Amino acid sequence: MNKKAHSHSGSAIDQRLHTAERLCEQHGSRLTPLRRLVLATLLRHPGSMKAYELLDALRAAQPGAAPPTVYRALDFLTEQGLIHRLDAVNAWSACTDAGGDPHDLLIVCTRCGTVAELSDPALSQRLADCVAQAGFVLDGHETELRAVCTRCQQAGLP
Ligand SMILES: [Zn+2]
Ligand SMILES: [Zn+2]
Repeated sequence: MNKKAHSHSGSAIDQRLHTAERLCEQHGSRLTPLRRLVLATLLRHPGSMKAYELLDALRAAQPGAAPPTVYRALDFLTEQGLIHRLDAVNAWSACTDAGGDPHDLLIVCTRCGTVAELSDPALSQRLADCVAQAGFVLDGHETELRAVCTRCQQAGLP
């Protein structure tokens, strides 16, 4: 298993934005200024952001940012594999390793929205087999696990 740590230094964010531009070009699409702003906002934010948090942060930088435009940008970034949509906490997080090795497990803290991205193809295959035995197919290539992070465990029960 490989665990990838979040890093939020300025140069790391520039690096990730550069990678994102390259990946979009490879897919024949473009990282427009708004898409770039949404991605940069998520990259700067540790853990994940809910829609209203993202809109607030975006409006500080771009007062006219309308929700439908922002949702379209989020859909685009999700399709490009640059961000993750986290159903467990109804939020989004920047992918910590876009363009790197694919990962298949997202561990999401249901209390604070922190995310850990892991890769365990053998486990995912086994999960897919179990799902198939029940007559289902997995919807999406990532499995979200609801969990409680170390910091929230230490903070105790709410
Ligand atoms: Zn990722
Ligand atoms: Zn937490």
